[in-house]
Amino acid sequence: MNQLIFEISRSGRKGYRFPKQDVPQREAQQLFGVIAAKQAPNLPETAEVDVIRHFENLARDNFAVDAGFYPLGSCTMKYNPKVNELTSREAGFTEVHPLQPEETAQGSLELIHTLTGYLSEITGMSWGTMQSMAGAHGEFTGMKLFRAYFSAAGEHQRTRLIVPSSSHGTNPASAHLSGFEVIELPADERGLVSPESLKPYMNDQLAGIMLTNPNTLGLYETDILEISEMVHEAGGLLYYDGANLNAVMGKSRPGDMGFDVIHLNLHKTFSTPHGGGGPGAGPVLVSDRLVPFLPVPDVVKTDGDYRFDWDRPQSIGKISGFYGNFGVLVRALTYILVMGKDGLTRASEMAVLNANYVMESLKDLYYLPYDQVCKHEFVFSAEKMKKDTGVSALDVAKGLVERSIHPPTVYFPLIVPEALMIEPTETETKETLDRFIAVMTEIHRLAYEDASQLTEAPRGTSVRRVDDVRAARHPVVRWEGAE
Ligand SMILES: *Cc1c(COP(=O)(O)O)cnc(C)c1O
Repeated sequence: MNQLIFEISRSGRKGYRFPKQDVPQREAQQLFGVIAAKQAPNLPETAEVDVIRHFENLARDNFAVDAGFYPLGSCTMKYNPKVNELTSREAGFTEVHPLQPEETAQGSLELIHTLTGYLSEITGMSWGTMQSMAGAHGEFTGMKLFRAYFSAAGEHQRTRLIVPSSSHGTNPASAHLSGFEVIELPADERGLVSPESLKPYMNDQLAGIMLTNPNTLGLYETDILEISEMVHEAGGLLYYDGANLNAVMGKSRPGDMGFDVIHLNLHKTFSTPHGGGGPGAGPVLVSDRLVPFLPVPDVVKTDGDYRFDWDRPQSIGKISGFYGNFGVLVRALTYILVMGKDGLTRASEMAVLNANYVMESLKDLYYLPYDQVCKHEFVFSAEKMKKDTGVSALDVAKGLVERSIHPPTVYFPLIVPEALMIEPTETETKETLDRFIAVMTEIHRLAYEDASQLTEAPRGTSVRRVDDVRAARHPVVRWEGAE
């Protein structure tokens, strides 16, 4: 295991050499007065080479999509082409300041405008905002748009929002935070939303419905047109959680399905590496009727020039400090331009093909509760395996860690017990998928023949199994000296 940098620290050791001091020494208090620290900070004292080795070794312990297969369902951990990093590092983009005059930032404004147009076309919506900085932020913005729409219509009684039980946890959270009453709708035996189950809520209290399509089971909502007609007829709106568009780009469009608001996670489908809380972008696109309420400023083009338009009297206002996580927007536009229409369609096709290939290859070993053609991902249940052998979804995940594969998402969606949610993504080769299938087959065999190899895994990693409960109840997040 890597030591902490404080543990390799030795009092008085230095990684630098300064010339001899040739001016009188002054105390910090003399120089800075009351704001000076009373005590020197407790910093590690190490040789330069040891600092380098320390961080290098920590970095090598990281797992990333550039290091190996990362089938983390719902999160779309796909390979992100390096050309997107090159464009996002162009000095013209990195050194632009959000407060500089519009006429000196025409390229950046054009980029925002162009991307908004492409994303509107890809999703079949009318226009949108690039300001929101994450999927959840996009959802929150979408809910504000719902509220503004109903307020403008004088329909303050529309407070109920339907959210399927399979939805991403951020959906009910965003709806609740925005003041809606969340109605949780169970999936039917197909794993889908049935129009029948919506009927009781089709009245003048309905604000709308939030749907993910394909849903978090990786299944396409086949009744979506009927659902959108019902909701609109009852006076409600439809929200599309498009965090993951990997199955439908170039194939079907949320706008054509009747949705009014959608957010996208550019850091999933549109190529920005994510995980560990790095910067994201959750643009929001809307149908005609919600355009007047979009956040300010909009980026508009008049007489060949781009400028910010703040004159939107019905706008929900500003939703971020400036104009979003701009570097993520640069990557997304690069990705779209490099892929082109055909490339995006092909990415969706390959994502769906890869998911079905893995699902079909393993479904005799791992229980598949909703046995249908899936889209970009699918969900196994390890419940039977756990009953038979004691090996849980978590143990399967740890077995994969031991074998240098990032585990799938586990224990989500909540409606599948012992869930293993697998999303191979479009960029993996058949050889990589076959290796994963072989490893999952081996893990299944071990579960039935030698379970301790899994329940005690991982053994060869720098950190073995952590005590989740203790870590949650007694988190130690700061080094406080040797015991
Ligand atoms: C990732 C995800 C979100 C949340 O996105 P963040 O950027 O993490 O806020 C919402 N919905 C679905 C379906 C997702 O996969």
